[in-house]
Amino acid sequence: MDTSLVISPQRHISLPDMCLFSPTELQIAAGTSELDFIRIIKAVAALDQAEDAWKGDASLFAIKTWGLKHGLEVTASATGYRTFSLRKMAHVAEEFPPTKRINGFSFAHYRQLLPFPREWSYEFIVRHAGEHIPSNSFRAQAELEYGGNPCKSKQPKKRSVLIREDLYARLRPHSANRKVHILIERVLEEWIRTQPDIIPTPTIIYESATARHKREALARKAAKQALREQREAELKTKRNTYAERRAQQIADGVKPIQEKETTVKYSIRVAWRECRGESVIDAPDGPQKYQSKSNQNPTKFYSEQDALAANEKHFTEAGYHEQVVRCEVHNCWHLSHIFTSEA
Ligand SMILES: [Zn+2]
Repeated sequence: MDTSLVISPQRHISLPDMCLFSPTELQIAAGTSELDFIRIIKAVAALDQAEDAWKGDASLFAIKTWGLKHGLEVTASATGYRTFSLRKMAHVAEEFPPTKRINGFSFAHYRQLLPFPREWSYEFIVRHAGEHIPSNSFRAQAELEYGGNPCKSKQPKKRSVLIREDLYARLRPHSANRKVHILIERVLEEWIRTQPDIIPTPTIIYESATARHKREALARKAAKQALREQREAELKTKRNTYAERRAQQIADGVKPIQEKETTVKYSIRVAWRECRGESVIDAPDGPQKYQSKSNQNPTKFYSEQDALAANEKHFTEAGYHEQVVRCEVHNCWHLSHIFTSEA
């Protein structure tokens, strides 16, 4: 006995007598030749791969023969699948007829290609024949070669427009079994066709929310930069530098500034007050070392004799003596000024 299953005229599977193939087991009789074994395995493998496609073919046949509703019901009762699934399978089978199918690709593979243009999909299948791509990466591969998701931007973007509820209610019966927005769109399109051509049709850029945010952010940044550059340019032209302004003033004949009389400089710098070392202040971020700001930088003498000698020298320059003091901060001697109140 020859158990045959015809899937399409192109594929004819026959299982030899010496094998029993059931959904749960494959029995192969002892003494089966190597050639027969290969025939069995090839047949079973083909049947296994055909599993998906035949459901679609069967549903499509039933729909074409007995109509959509009854055809699906018949197939559902015979296969145990839901009519909903069978209808989808029939759709895939119709879009990818047996002549366009290639061994190695399942129903799931063809389903992934539904959104792509048909002829493109057929070429894609041929291009990848024998590559054993899993169906879940098949779509990704197709998008990569197609250059994106074909589903996107299929539908033009819509805007919500509020209209009065009573007007909507009056429009509703006129839209028959279509949606009201389609009726409104049609009415508006007819209206706009009758309008004089004074207002040019705006160019509409379709972009995602992310793309829009990005574009707007870049525009804001560019505007800020332009403003900054403009301000800088204004500032440059508005106000000359001090040197330029001063040169202008002199050219305009202002009185030259009298040079100050330079104070008598002695060769020894006298300490006018006691030296202070580093102090620590309690700053908000912990104790901070603090060098009290002082413009006094008295001359340092590293022996008392040097300091005393300097005092004499200072007397010849200034006409008065200072006091020789030991400074623990600088670890040296200074000449300290004697204020008249101390004397
Ligand atoms: Zn000192």
